[in-house]
Amino acid sequence: MKIAFHTLGCKLNFSETSFIANDLKNEEIEITNFSDKSDVYVINTCSVTENANKECRQLIRKVKKISPNSIITIMGCYAQLKPDELKQIEGVNLVLGANEKFKLKEYLKKVTNKDSIINVKPIHKIKSFKQSFSEKQRTRTFLKIQDGCNYKCSFCTIPLARGKSRSDTIQNVKKQIKKLEIKGIKEIVLTGVNIGDFGINEKNENFHDLIKEITKIKTPRIRISSIEPNLLTDEILNLIMNSKNIVPHFHIPLQSGSDKILKLMRRRYNTTYYRKLINKIKSFNQSTCIGADVIVGFPGEQESDFNDTVEFIKSLPVSYLHVFSYSERENTVAKNMDGLVEIKTRKKRSQILRNLSSKKKNKFYLENLKTSRPTLIESGNEKETLNGYTDNYIKVEIPYKKGLENKIVEINMDTLNRNGNIKGFLN
Ligand code: SF4
Repeated sequence: MKIAFHTLGCKLNFSETSFIANDLKNEEIEITNFSDKSDVYVINTCSVTENANKECRQLIRKVKKISPNSIITIMGCYAQLKPDELKQIEGVNLVLGANEKFKLKEYLKKVTNKDSIINVKPIHKIKSFKQSFSEKQRTRTFLKIQDGCNYKCSFCTIPLARGKSRSDTIQNVKKQIKKLEIKGIKEIVLTGVNIGDFGINEKNENFHDLIKEITKIKTPRIRISSIEPNLLTDEILNLIMNSKNIVPHFHIPLQSGSDKILKLMRRRYNTTYYRKLINKIKSFNQSTCIGADVIVGFPGEQESDFNDTVEFIKSLPVSYLHVFSYSERENTVAKNMDGLVEIKTRKKRSQILRNLSSKKKNKFYLENLKTSRPTLIESGNEKETLNGYTDNYIKVEIPYKKGLENKIVEINMDTLNRNGNIKGFLN
């Protein structure tokens, strides 16, 4: 039997897809490309934006043309939130929610291409944590340590799609890190929905304790995917910045540079707090990379609020942005708010911030030129060049040299090319 997977959305979804696919692999099952003819197609969905929903529906139509008799399974966030909507789409045979997706193997034993089965447990009943990690890349892996979120940001559907915060134990995370290291993984990215809330519900553990234990491990190197600003305490920051194995790279959602909008978004910090945090991080180590998420076009965001965001970001030493246009989601508080921003204005604002992000990244790269950093060499280009990421998340390209792939080597960052990438050489 051939099975093809496609993932929409975040790194957490990617790690879960990879884990589920690996669990299925045996002598009778072959994992194939999504664009090839297959017996089963599985789409692990996202529901953060309307675009992700649209993309899922387009993918269903596409695979039905490639393989009309195939079995189509939809799982993940969109499946959890809108199972009935998905069931209506012609060709969908199996809809699995946040919990049931991990039982795909059992469902595939009984489902046929004539069926239309929905199995979605109410989200408040999901209490268990399922560890996952991505296995596609040989060098770097995304390790899920936490799931769900207890926050109530007014624009967000993730708590409705993934449920309450729950996490692994410190002991399990440490064991898994060891196992991945034995497999040859050189970098692990700790991933979750709200990882700063690690251990919050059921265990006598917390993110600080986890980080403290992780700093005692020598290798592989560890990256923290994204952490809410209010959960990045001085104690955690101290541990990370003084550790030898956790890299100087943070991704800290900002969402808006206007206190009025942050309040409407129900975020748990204001711009004064955020600025202090970023400056504190930089005061530890100027070459630390800091990324930020920003949403533009939130209801009530007037031109002056957007300008506040632009000016705020300009004044901050952040290194890049992930920009999102606000997207109305059902059952969120924001959907019923006044002051809807026109789609064309959202697009325009989004473009302004993307341009600002390129400038920020360029500046950060230039600041790091003529220095050397430990770089994980990940891939090559027809034996001419090799690419990798430094500890502080700078993408570098070096001339090809045999035997460097999947190794951490010291690279001198020499020049910035026209594509905005750094060219370097082996120290
Ligand atoms: S912290 Fe807010 S934005 Fe992030 S997942 Fe939780 S509710 Fe959503």
